[in-house]
Amino acid sequence: MTEPKPPPARADTARTRLREALSDEPLSARELSQRVGLSEKEVLEHLLHVARSLSTEGRSLDILPARCKSCSFHFEADLARARPSRCPNCKAERIEAARFSVGA
Ligand SMILES: [Zn+2]
Repeated sequence: MTEPKPPPARADTARTRLREALSDEPLSARELSQRVGLSEKEVLEHLLHVARSLSTEGRSLDILPARCKSCSFHFEADLARARPSRCPNCKAERIEAARFSVGA
């Protein structure tokens, strides 16, 4: 007799943990990566799917856009631009990362 193997639900589990973390308070990709134990890149990939499944439930992923700490330039509220490295306005590299939460 062999033990039944648990189903390979790693991606689902990661997304469930992400959604739980997102319901707390707005968090950056880095904070989310620390909470769920994934890289920032993986977090952003999973967030795309989380945003899609939220929209099928009539909810949305709220994105607090990244912001330049030097001139307060606001980046687009876009998952693909969550981690800008440099401000296009003043060229500073002190950027506050975008943060995410689950909207109503
Ligand atoms: Zn700037």
